[in-house]
Amino acid sequence: MSTILFWFRNDLRLHDQPALQAALQRAQGDGTPRLLPVFCLPAEDEVSPWGFARAGRHRQAFHSATLQDLGDRLAALGSPLLVCRAAPGQALPALARAVGAEAVVCEEIAAPEEEAQVAALQAAGLRVQTVWQSSLLDPAALPWPTAGLPGVFTTFRQALERAGIAPAAPLPAPTQLPAPPEVPAEVLQAVGAGQGGALDADAASAGGQDPRSSFPYGMPASQGGEGAGLAHWAQYLARKLPHSYKATRNGLSGVDFSSKLSPWLATGALSPRRVLADLKAFEGEHGANEGSYWLWFELLWRDYFRLLHLQHGAQLHRGRGLSKAPLAPHDAQGFELWRHGCTGEPLVDAAMRELAATGYLSNRLRQVAASYLIHDLQGDWRAGAAWFESQLVDYDVYSNQGNWLYIAGRGTDPRGGRRFDPAKQAREHDPDGRYRRLWGTA
Ligand SMILES: Cc1cc2nc3c(=O)[nH]c(=O)nc-3n(C[C@H](O)[C@H](O)[C@H](O)COP(=O)(O)OP(=O)(O)OC[C@H]3O[C@@H](n4cnc5c(N)ncnc54)[C@H](O)[C@@H]3O)c2cc1C
Repeated sequence: MSTILFWFRNDLRLHDQPALQAALQRAQGDGTPRLLPVFCLPAEDEVSPWGFARAGRHRQAFHSATLQDLGDRLAALGSPLLVCRAAPGQALPALARAVGAEAVVCEEIAAPEEEAQVAALQAAGLRVQTVWQSSLLDPAALPWPTAGLPGVFTTFRQALERAGIAPAAPLPAPTQLPAPPEVPAEVLQAVGAGQGGALDADAASAGGQDPRSSFPYGMPASQGGEGAGLAHWAQYLARKLPHSYKATRNGLSGVDFSSKLSPWLATGALSPRRVLADLKAFEGEHGANEGSYWLWFELLWRDYFRLLHLQHGAQLHRGRGLSKAPLAPHDAQGFELWRHGCTGEPLVDAAMRELAATGYLSNRLRQVAASYLIHDLQGDWRAGAAWFESQLVDYDVYSNQGNWLYIAGRGTDPRGGRRFDPAKQAREHDPDGRYRRLWGTA
């Protein structure tokens, strides 16, 4: 009998889940296959080195809903999700021993903390199979080895487009799962286990219904989970919004100015390959234009930051990043004013108030706010990245780290940082002051 622990990590979905497919294949060894789907909740009270919660109320609420949806889907297939209130390094070895698991199978995450988690499991004597699935494109299908990835995004994109590199088709969700093995009650207790994604009532009531929100995650259409994510994408396509995407994507406020795929992509509730396959089908039916092309362009940015992590790993998490320039001393007081939306710069303050109130911010305002902290307030970019991690419902380690490094001029791009002049940005993107008035700064 082959028993496999399937460890859900970032990607909380059943469709296009290559790691889950690998686990199912592995469970089909001799005898009766058994599969135990497990998720380890991160500690809710973890505090970042900058002195605030690592996952704030918006992110916790969106994540809880995502987990709930996954739990329901697995339960419907007869294989309930075991949710543990313990670190993976504690919970998984105990569970694996208790059920005689042959291996732990999970997705690969190329970020330092997540790599340390896998190393801890291996050190505890577990066999761990990791499967890379987080990018649209398979790193092995690229024209370069990971170590030779171009340092400039445009070079990367143009080479891919010239070579006609396309992702593999998304995999369907499994229609049945092997029954889970019995776990002794004392082991369940030791790993703090419950079943399904228990929705924390405080987190659920934390917000997400602010009428000013561009992503009201407390409303059914924007809630966490594969079901809502697929439905959101289907309605975006049905309303032919990809055609107008390029013209509207730099908007500051509203539910339709950009695709709003990020919260579901970031939690892995939606697969990028599924998104692209649907986009291609849309183009086949309704025609391609600059707008639909630009969605692919932005999804490539997402891939690029993932691949940079495969290439440079922990170096992207140092203060210096990939640059040799030392860090200026961090202005802690300026940082506090920034994160509370009290710098006196109206566009930046409005953005920071929106972020804290809703957990979402447009791309344009993320750029303006990050640039202001780094280039005007001389703040440490890592503090800003940590605040975004805490607040964003679409927090994603690769995209967050990559964008902050890019604006700080500490990534691969040799252009030495990007400063956005807030007054100019306000003139261009908020000429009548509507956005600043919405958030009480004009
Ligand atoms: C400082 C800073 C921090 C950021 N942190 C995150 C983060 O933690 N998580 C996150 O998903 N995105 C992050 N972004 C990228 C971008 O702002 C968001 O992906 C985008 O605003 C999400 O809204 P959307 O889905 O409507 O985007 P759309 O404009 O509709 O784009 C479609 C998709 O393309 C991808 N994408 C678009 N722009 C970028 C980009 N610059 N970098 C990487 N992928 C991109 C996203 O997956 C997005 O969902 C950050 C940007 C900046 C400047």
